[in-house]
Amino acid sequence: MKFIDLKLCDAVYEGIEAMGFDEPSKVQEKVIPLALQKKDLIACAQTGTGKTAAYLLPLMHHLHATKSEKIKGIILAPTRELALQIDQQFQGFAYFAGLESTAIYGGNDPAIWERQRVAIETGANILIASPGRLLSHLNLGYVDLSELEYLILDEADKMLDMGFMEDLTKIIKYLPKDKKRQTMMFSATMPPKIRILAKMILTDPEEINIAISKPAEGILQAAYLTYNNQKNRLICHLLKEKEMESAIIFSSTKHTVKTLVKELVVEGINAKAIHSDLDQSERETVMLDFRNKKFPILVATDIVSRGIDVDNIELVINYDVPQDAEDYVHRIGRTARAASTGVGLTFINEEDQFKFSRIEKLIETVIFKIPNPPEIGDGPEYNPNSSKKKKPYPKRDGKKNFSGKRKPNFNKNNKKKD
Ligand code: AMP
Repeated sequence: MKFIDLKLCDAVYEGIEAMGFDEPSKVQEKVIPLALQKKDLIACAQTGTGKTAAYLLPLMHHLHATKSEKIKGIILAPTRELALQIDQQFQGFAYFAGLESTAIYGGNDPAIWERQRVAIETGANILIASPGRLLSHLNLGYVDLSELEYLILDEADKMLDMGFMEDLTKIIKYLPKDKKRQTMMFSATMPPKIRILAKMILTDPEEINIAISKPAEGILQAAYLTYNNQKNRLICHLLKEKEMESAIIFSSTKHTVKTLVKELVVEGINAKAIHSDLDQSERETVMLDFRNKKFPILVATDIVSRGIDVDNIELVINYDVPQDAEDYVHRIGRTARAASTGVGLTFINEEDQFKFSRIEKLIETVIFKIPNPPEIGDGPEYNPNSSKKKKPYPKRDGKKNFSGKRKPNFNKNNKKKD
């Protein structure tokens, strides 16, 4: 799926482009269409899956044309750090949508309290708040929620673990009863107390589960840092070094699959391709021959990464880094099936490093980076944070900014000042 298939408004697409996102993550693919229909939903998704953009983008789509300076949405988060992180993503996306947000969190600094109060009273459309501090502002009576249409709870399980149930219940009582509201709840886990909270605040919710599976124990995982022009030579080197009975090479694009197969064949390697340009019977023939070990190397797009049961695949090579952790697990899961062992190798170029680091985070494994063989030469340094695509924000003339100086900050390590 592409972002364009999600039918968001132009201002939101500009934000997505500025943030350097190419394709939606799994949770975004599932959440955004439902959120655009204003459905209530409960989603089981961990940090790192892209859940923040999954709710921010549809929220912005709905609100971008709003001329109102009243509070339209509240996003509740358990900690100051998460509230600031969400606010930072909001600023990055919202620059083009002309929306204002403010982060509301605790602390003893009176200047911060005052800044929060002014933002609440003078035109923040979205409050990104920790429950305790939001409640303190609500109790003082100046928070106008009469136009509130959206409520989002992020890391709901953590909020309950931190003892916020009572505060949440009180906050809900402040929300307008006569107005239709969309409520979305995100939680890494689904214990019974989350179900109770969901019953209390959601209406006829859709359920989304983005469970991240882990690669099987028997898979030896490693990666090479390679420039694009080193990849084919490295594949030939690896396949010639040790004779394989069965190996799969995955690539995201059929163009790469087709050209790589041609190159392998020229090098005397017996490889065949499978991709969506083949018709069903051609695909079945290729798969049958591969299963029966009539040829050793299959070069494939992701169409065969799920569910294909081929025994004794010794090696899986990711020619490029899959879009998300789930695809990675499916791809390398083709090897080491049924308690056997296998090797999963991934080629990481400069642009894919951030994507790869996200996968490492999700599967909670740091994957060993093997030095390139001397005949291939050194690849790029592993520096995932600088591989995240960033574009400078353009000037937006004449748009009021209630703090007078806030601009989107695309550098997630560069925390906003209080
Ligand atoms: P989250 O799970 O929302 O905390 O997101 C984790 C990281 O992934 C953040 O740094 C996001 O900026 C990034 N991210 C979210 N969605 C995408 C996407 N579709 N493409 C690339 N990066 C993304």
